[in-house]
Amino acid sequence: MKIILLGAPGAGKGTQATKICEKYNLPHISTGDILRDNIRRGTPLGQQAKAIIDRGELVPDEVVVAIVKDRLSLDDCKSGWLLDGFPRTIAQAKALDSFEKAEYAINITIPFEKLLYRITGRRMCECGESYHVSTHPSPTCDKCGKTLYIRADDNEESVANRLKAYEQSTAPLVDYYAEAGILKNVDGDSTVDGVFEIISEILD
Ligand code: AMP
Repeated sequence: MKIILLGAPGAGKGTQATKICEKYNLPHISTGDILRDNIRRGTPLGQQAKAIIDRGELVPDEVVVAIVKDRLSLDDCKSGWLLDGFPRTIAQAKALDSFEKAEYAINITIPFEKLLYRITGRRMCECGESYHVSTHPSPTCDKCGKTLYIRADDNEESVANRLKAYEQSTAPLVDYYAEAGILKNVDGDSTVDGVFEIISEILD
C-alpha cells in the first residue's frame, strides 16, 4: 500500500500515521520528523532547515524531494509506505509522481478553530507519540517515559505562518489528487479511534 496523508497542521496526521503504519506494517515517513532529527543531531541539513522550520515556512522543494527519494529507495519501502507531511506543494507532488505512484491520498479535514486548539496544546515525545495537555497533563510519555516537549514551531507566530503555507501551497494538492482519482476525504473532527476506523474502512 502506498499512502499519502494530507491535512492542515494539527489535523492529526502524525497520530493517524502511527496507527495506520502499525496496522498495515508500513514504514512511516514523516519529512517533519526527519528534519527535526537532523536539527537534533546538528547535521548540515538540520542547520540549513532550523530557521525555516522555526519560522513556520516551507523548506525548499529540492531539499525535501531529495530526502524522500532517498528514503523511498530503501528496502523497507519496496512493498509500500506512508508519507506524512509530504508532498506539501504541487512541485513536490509532481516530483513524487516521477519516481513513485501513490495509491491513496487521505485528506484529514478539521474546522479551522479546532486546529489552533490542538496545536497550542500539543506535547510531543521523541519516540513519536504526541498528546494534548488537556487530556494528558503529565509531563512524561506514557509509552517510553521520556519528558515531553513543545515543538519550537508550535508558537503563535509560526503557527500563523504554517497555516498560511498550508492554504497557499498545500491545499491545492486536494484538487491535484482528486483529479488523479486517489483522493479520500476523512472527517478528522472526531476521536482518534473514530477517525482511524474510517481510514481503516477505506484501506481494508
Ligand atoms: P510537520 O512535522 O510535518 O508539521 O513539519 C514541520 C515543518 O517541517 C514544516 O512546517 C516545514 O517547515 C518543514 N517541512 C516538513 N515537511 C515539509 C515538506 N514536505 N516541504 C517543505 N517543508 C516541510
